[in-house]
Amino acid sequence: MTTETFAAPETRAFEADVSKLLHMMVHSVYSDRDVFLRELISNAADACEKLRYEAISRPELLGDDAQPRITVTLDKEAGTLTVTDNGIGMSAIDMAETLGTIARSGTKAFMDRLAADKNGEGQQLIGQFGVGFYSAFMVAGKVEVVSRRAGEDEAASWASDGSGTYTIAPVDPAAAPLRGTRVTLTLLDEAKSYAELYTVERIVKAQSGHVPVPIFVEETGS
Ligand code: ADP
Ligand code: MG
Repeated sequence: MTTETFAAPETRAFEADVSKLLHMMVHSVYSDRDVFLRELISNAADACEKLRYEAISRPELLGDDAQPRITVTLDKEAGTLTVTDNGIGMSAIDMAETLGTIARSGTKAFMDRLAADKNGEGQQLIGQFGVGFYSAFMVAGKVEVVSRRAGEDEAASWASDGSGTYTIAPVDPAAAPLRGTRVTLTLLDEAKSYAELYTVERIVKAQSGHVPVPIFVEETGS
């Protein structure tokens, strides 16, 4: 499907179904928006698990960074929340194939239910299905992903404001994680509490206690 190299920034439209889903996230009145963090942490943990599996046959992928870890970094001044993992990472092509399509069966099931939705129950379905990465747009006006796939030199970024298009671009490897993924949410005004240590620690404890990768919550800022 993709033969591009993403040597220069490229802006693309989301798949129609993703646009529908994003529209719903952006205009969400769903009350339990905390679930976005569970989704991002679960993706980070999945990425660590995928790396562990690939490293069975290619131990060199681990380099000198063999301990899986997830870090949630909060910057109150900038109004951002960042989830970083040292898992498998994504290439630009991986991003184009997964962060712009409905790749996921759970999300697909959600969309099918939504299409059949006659009573406006869509909002309640968000928590039930766990709508994945796109749930970040319930709390963020902009989402940026910077990633480097294990074993690769190049790094790439993916960014969107959730309004129909996303941009994939090469990034200076020096500005990317050595391996893995960094997802930065620029929080909406009404979601600024997600840059507070107390709030985020509470959510992590409540929702991600079963995650088999250590999670660190840190504050940063200028
Ligand atoms: P799911 O996790 O069920 O596949 P998501 O919407 O949560 O659905 O994520 C979509 C895809 O994006 C994942 O399957 C994965 O390929 C990719 N992805 C998301 N976050 C990360 C991450 N931190 N590291 C690597 N890949 C990721
Ligand atoms: Mg997921």
